[in-house]
Amino acid sequence: MARRVELTDAEWRQRLSPEQYAVLRQQATERAFTGAYTDTEEPGVYRCAGCGAELFRSDAKFHSGSGWPSFVEPAELEAVEVRIDRSNGMVREEVVCAACGGHLGHVFDDGPGPTGKRFCINSCALELDAADGPTSG
Ligand code: FE
Repeated sequence: MARRVELTDAEWRQRLSPEQYAVLRQQATERAFTGAYTDTEEPGVYRCAGCGAELFRSDAKFHSGSGWPSFVEPAELEAVEVRIDRSNGMVREEVVCAACGGHLGHVFDDGPGPTGKRFCINSCALELDAADGPTSG
């Protein structure tokens, strides 16, 4: 399907770090508890590290204990696509950036609150756009 952001493989390699390329373009998963945003509570907007699209907001982030940044919902329903992933002998729901098709992580049905969802997202697929204003501490 058509994406707003279409780059060649060479362009993606140039734009992304090797780790970001492995996750976003090759469906890799960063090791648990190693990502930059696992425990981040700073307010702001999480953008796609591949294309800059707004994907998640800090107010939907929660501490899941999984080792990856976790959100109860995307910033907008249309911001992400969910598709079936049958790799590695499991059936999971993969979450991809709707704008560039980049792999972000997976979504599970064990999240808190009304959505019941846990969007389990690789830190390196995200870039935090911190909210302006006074910071505490
Ligand atoms: Fe993207």
